[in-house]
Amino acid sequence: MKEGWEAVIGMEIHTQLATETKIFCGCRAEFGSEPNSNTCPVCLGLPGALPVLNRRVVELGARAALALGLELQETSIFARKNYFYPDLPKGYQISQYDRPFSANGKLTIMTADRDEHGHAREWKPMTIHIERMHLEEDAGKNVHEGLPETDKYSYVDLNRAGTPLGEIVTGPDFRTSWQAYDYVNHVRRVLQWVGASDADMEKGNLRCEANVSVRRVGDEKFNNKVELKNLNSVRFMQKAIEYEMERQVAAHESGEGVQQETRLWDEQKQETRVMRSKEDAHDYRYFPEPDLQPLVLSAEFIESVKMQMPELPDNMRERFIEVYGLNFADASQIVSDKDLAAFYETTARITADPRLSANWVLGEFTKELKNAGKTAAESLMSAEDLAELLNTLESGSINNNQAKEVLAEMFASGKPAAQVISEKGFEQISDSSAIEKIVDEVIANNAAQVERYRGGNDKLFGFFVGQVMKASQGKANPKVVNEILKDKL
Ligand code: ZN
Ligand code: MN
Repeated sequence: MKEGWEAVIGMEIHTQLATETKIFCGCRAEFGSEPNSNTCPVCLGLPGALPVLNRRVVELGARAALALGLELQETSIFARKNYFYPDLPKGYQISQYDRPFSANGKLTIMTADRDEHGHAREWKPMTIHIERMHLEEDAGKNVHEGLPETDKYSYVDLNRAGTPLGEIVTGPDFRTSWQAYDYVNHVRRVLQWVGASDADMEKGNLRCEANVSVRRVGDEKFNNKVELKNLNSVRFMQKAIEYEMERQVAAHESGEGVQQETRLWDEQKQETRVMRSKEDAHDYRYFPEPDLQPLVLSAEFIESVKMQMPELPDNMRERFIEVYGLNFADASQIVSDKDLAAFYETTARITADPRLSANWVLGEFTKELKNAGKTAAESLMSAEDLAELLNTLESGSINNNQAKEVLAEMFASGKPAAQVISEKGFEQISDSSAIEKIVDEVIANNAAQVERYRGGNDKLFGFFVGQVMKASQGKANPKVVNEILKDKL
């Protein structure tokens, strides 16, 4: 960012709530079906068809809101947002306006500046004000055939029309593109964590828009903002914001100024371009939806949603630090993935040393997962089996390198630790009568060295240990070998 200027960024996220059916009818909320097959008079917008609110939308919406630190509103009201578009057959979208489902969120995220390679510098907490999350229906999809100049047909697919969305709106709180980036990733992770949404940007069930303006440092008032759309990944979004910040500073400095408009990110050209001038809220002629009652949440309902919520990642991180003695960085990395966190906790509970478990889960296990392109939940090696391996390692009967080799095989085959250890012949001989026999042989075969050792050459002790280990093909338990050798010499 150019010296003397700062960016003001607010975020809007639309996330599809993970229900089986749509928000106001019983059609399946499912993509990839035959176009227009998941439709009925309600989501086709046929005259006289009446919407009925899906209870599951309210449950998952409440989970999302609570996970984002929002306050659920006792009464909220659905409203019609009027605009024309071919994929919106009613001519309005049922949304919420002045009485949203939830409001007043306070969310703490971790954020960091990045160096020129995109590597995070120091992570710091940042508290975001989330103004609201309201519930609404999605529109359908227009499908255009061919290139613009040869375009013959456009199609409308209404399978998506009426799928439930939560729209999450922040205040103009962000000052850098990386803060916005860290925020979206945080929201995505939390929504997946509580099961409110799949939050998969590639499948389009999480879409984000950034409102970006710039001003001179010290200015109180905001300049015109630009809404950035078509941000297909969090990284594209970050780049688009960065581009837009520079573009706007240049436009202000040249005296040309910035128009309030919607711009698209063009990943190929690495630039934003104008899509349309931006509407104001009054252009939509919002009014209360006459076909739906106000939505009233009872105290019992809110309580039951809270009861069903899993522990949130931030709370889990604190607990891991306190109970298992992990440091902040390791705990953060473990709770960045719900499956990994569950895997870790199972392992940590069985083993004697939870920090050793963390090292192995974040080290060898994560390496294997990355190579295989799997999640912890898909691992053939169970958390219990890893714990068994780590307990064997701690008992001293295999060494670190052997444990790594065993883990790789356990991961590939799903075999338990004991089986792999015995197949690889890593089992140590701890039986003292077997080791005694070897020690006797070594002593008998090295009479000269025995004489010198007994004459005071202590350094030769290591020689005998080496001979015994060699004779046992490395399998003798070194501790037992030491004891017996001392005894016999
Ligand atoms: Zn329907
Ligand atoms: Mn919306």
